[in-house]
Amino acid sequence: MLYQRLAEAYEKIENTSGSLDKIAILAELLREAEASEIEKVIALTLGKLFPDWKGEPEIGIAEKMAVQVVAQAASVPDDEVKKVVKRLGDIGAAAEELLKSSVQMTLLSEELTVSRVFDTLYSVARASGSGSSKMKTSLLVGLLTEAQPLEARYIMRTVTGSLRLGLGHMMIVDSLALAFTGSRDNRSDIEHAFNLCSDLGYVARLLAEEGIEAVRSVSIEVGRPIRMMAAKKLSSPEEIMEKVGGRALVEYKYDGERIQAHKKGDEIVLFSRRQERITDQYPDVVEYVRDHVRTGSCIIEGEVVAYDPGTGETRPFQELMRRRRKFDIEEMTKEVPVRVFLFDVLYADGEDISVRPMLDRRSVLEKIVDKCEDIGLTVGEVTDSAERLREIFMTALDTGHEGIMAKAVHEGSRYQAGSRSWLWIKLKASYSEGMMDTLDLVVVGAFHGRGKRTGVYGAILAAVYDEDTDTFPTVCKIGTGFTDEMLEEFKRRLADYVLDARDPRVVSDLEADVWFEPRLVVEVVGDEVTISPTHPAGREKIGTGGLAIRFPRFTGRFRDDKNPTQATTVADLIDLFEMQRGLR
Ligand code: AMP
Repeated sequence: MLYQRLAEAYEKIENTSGSLDKIAILAELLREAEASEIEKVIALTLGKLFPDWKGEPEIGIAEKMAVQVVAQAASVPDDEVKKVVKRLGDIGAAAEELLKSSVQMTLLSEELTVSRVFDTLYSVARASGSGSSKMKTSLLVGLLTEAQPLEARYIMRTVTGSLRLGLGHMMIVDSLALAFTGSRDNRSDIEHAFNLCSDLGYVARLLAEEGIEAVRSVSIEVGRPIRMMAAKKLSSPEEIMEKVGGRALVEYKYDGERIQAHKKGDEIVLFSRRQERITDQYPDVVEYVRDHVRTGSCIIEGEVVAYDPGTGETRPFQELMRRRRKFDIEEMTKEVPVRVFLFDVLYADGEDISVRPMLDRRSVLEKIVDKCEDIGLTVGEVTDSAERLREIFMTALDTGHEGIMAKAVHEGSRYQAGSRSWLWIKLKASYSEGMMDTLDLVVVGAFHGRGKRTGVYGAILAAVYDEDTDTFPTVCKIGTGFTDEMLEEFKRRLADYVLDARDPRVVSDLEADVWFEPRLVVEVVGDEVTISPTHPAGREKIGTGGLAIRFPRFTGRFRDDKNPTQATTVADLIDLFEMQRGLR
């Protein structure tokens, strides 16, 4: 397939606002692609050569190098490129304009194919060590001199990580269903396969080469992360009991980082909730799993919790996040030691355990784990009494836990990869005090600070995730809960995500001073969910207006462990709203 075809589709998608139309355009493109190149088409469309968990190098070209590349390709000085970038607001559009007016050699060169673009970008990503900057630049200049102006626009956006087509994984799943099975009805099979293997390109190729039956037979594999199952939230023990079917495994909810450990012999890999490899951050956890889990191979899940080596007490989640930023991990393992509390097993010695009911899985876990101080199972008890659930909740709080997780134990209580269902329900302290639970919101914009806050942001515009449309509608403007250090940290962290215009996936009636790519997830607590004329979250479903958070405050916690699509959703917000009004 020619890259030109991709570029034209991207342009159309960019100029289309409805998600159904975007899905249709992408489906048409996918239908035309050769089965052997579909993986590359998907990768380029997602703006990532490989899924994160493969541990392949990323393209990530910095602004300065991007400017040099365009300057050399168009034979103009760097300053000229900078000027055009400033005027047009993005390096892609600048490359397009400058190449249009430069005398190019394209007449002599061959047309660019998708494979040629992908392979060159892969070489760029892999170049490392001394002389790699030169190498990267010359590879990209070579590519641009062969590119048509429109192609140059998208190549430059891809390498600088600013493609922003507004196409999330789930919309690509829809497009695949439409392209290869004729309708979106089969989307759930494709989504399920993706949830089991976390590799959409692979699922797409399988679908194109062998059809939907092959996709249905995708199974769990050690070494390939499974998208994690998530919990819903409720505030009353009685309701929780009813929702899970009258009987529940009630476990303490630990405040740490979730990990999925894959073990094959002595080889252990750890994945985060975002399917990133985090093995290097936890050499201690790797050791615990190696020494205390008695299977040849398995996939298990649990929570890693930091504790104080002096007192033995658990430490807050923030402490754990310090490990993410440290290079000297050995030192950190002493400073912030951790324990592991396992709560699930999905695979063991050749058998898919994920399809078994909760208590079966728990008993397999009991059998394979050799418990000790460092690694064991979550504290849990099966009960059919809401009163008992309340007691366990109180004990959980008394012993320094966040709350409880109530898990369904009926025949159908299998592990549901990648979904948030009523099979797992969390109950946290903030509920019982009549306040709202914390929300994980995505920062999409900001307003300049004045007075004491000059130079940093005065307020943050935050959004939830809408799973149906793959968008981020705003829910509040947050101006409180910040210390000076936090404001500095916001400024620093957001610097990488600044955009020149609103991201197409962000839905907002407010005009922010600065827009961001929806990447940063922060924890927020508010007083209640209210109907609002200014915020669009859930507007179509509620009818009278969107939903907003009243009196939102930043809790001080950056949720580095969450992807924007794992933030609080519109559906969660509607649940909370109805709960508040006593509708459920
Ligand atoms: P939240 O981060 O508030 O959405 O809560 C869900 C998270 O709680 C999971 O992703 C786990 O990281 C964590 N968690 C803590 N204890 C448990 C437990 N016993 N079972 C399942 N998840 C737990």
